[in-house]
Amino acid sequence: MSRVTVCARFRPLSSKEIRDHRDGSGVCVRGIDAENFVFQDDKEDEFTFSLDRVFYEDSAQAAVYEFLALPIMRDAVNAINGTIITYGQTGAGKTYSMEGPGIQDSDEHKKGLLPRVVDGMFEQIRSSKDMARYTVKLSMVEIYMERVRDLLDLSKGNIQIKENKNQGIQLSGVTEVPVSDSAEALQHLCSGLANRAVGETQMNMSSSRSHCAYLFTIQQDSVKDKRVKTGKLILVDLAGSEKADKTGAEGRVLEEAKTINKSLSALGNVINALTSGSSNKANHVPYRDSKLTRILQDALGGNSRMALLCCCSPSTSNASETLSTLRFGMRAKHIKASPRASEVKSAKTREEPSSETKDEKRGRILE
Ligand code: ADP
Ligand code: MG
Repeated sequence: MSRVTVCARFRPLSSKEIRDHRDGSGVCVRGIDAENFVFQDDKEDEFTFSLDRVFYEDSAQAAVYEFLALPIMRDAVNAINGTIITYGQTGAGKTYSMEGPGIQDSDEHKKGLLPRVVDGMFEQIRSSKDMARYTVKLSMVEIYMERVRDLLDLSKGNIQIKENKNQGIQLSGVTEVPVSDSAEALQHLCSGLANRAVGETQMNMSSSRSHCAYLFTIQQDSVKDKRVKTGKLILVDLAGSEKADKTGAEGRVLEEAKTINKSLSALGNVINALTSGSSNKANHVPYRDSKLTRILQDALGGNSRMALLCCCSPSTSNASETLSTLRFGMRAKHIKASPRASEVKSAKTREEPSSETKDEKRGRILE
């Protein structure tokens, strides 16, 4: 499997979107199979996408976990760093995919990636046949307007990011709680999320305007040869990727939008640099361009794996944001190097009926 797994997930239509449909919007996605789908925008232009996996609106949380997160979690327990990211516009299903309806929701089917990763991690540690002692530590931070807040201790100010030769990227002074089982980890995750809500009220902001990162450090002390191996696993629920309304946004809202845009572009640029030339040492990877990419530096570069879940609305009323989310995903898959991945536009506009054959349309890659 490649270093970057890119998936799309279309959530069910919201009640607002169902109302929009009475006014003429449609559904923007037509599935072909588990990897390919046709996206139709509000002008009825069609684009064919090929990703590692597409999850349609009836997809189960367990299926998303098994395909996208489980392999990365397993590797992290074996000291291969990993990152799992949810990307998309506000309301597209990032937090639902990450947490489920609530981090401790009793409905097993609806449990999100985060509680499943926690369960799976401790399960794997328990069943490990290695002669090793494992220590798992958890930190939780929020990045808002390029400031890093410790969600496990709100009294700490802006957390500084430092690079240490032996330990790599360090969040200076961040709370790291040792957790010995999933119940304990979930308890801390709940406190962190409650703190996030408190901060939101204090700062009068919405959680959709900040990134939230859940960081696990899994240390393995070998009993046999005294070697220590460490895997970092980071799950990130990103801020909404939507563009600020060009006419309406001003003041803080505009500043927030610019900052989010800058950090998401930085993430895209880092992924591009990594996928286009990871073997080329001269290739500059611009981790320092944002707090987000700096925090993810170890988890993204070197000995690491990444999964990106592009969360999408299924309605044509959100088509332009969905298209930009899918394009972000395609960039992460590195279209040029991959003979399989392609984003193809078929020119099915009403004004310009196309005489191209289906194959010709498929062969035309949209820049
Ligand atoms: P985001 O975090 O991207 O802003 P949310 O995860 O909060 O979006 O989702 C917006 C709404 O859609 C929520 O009410 C959520 O419960 C619902 N939702 C999102 N994805 C799904 C899904 N796959 N199945 C059912 N409901 C979903
Ligand atoms: Mg959210």
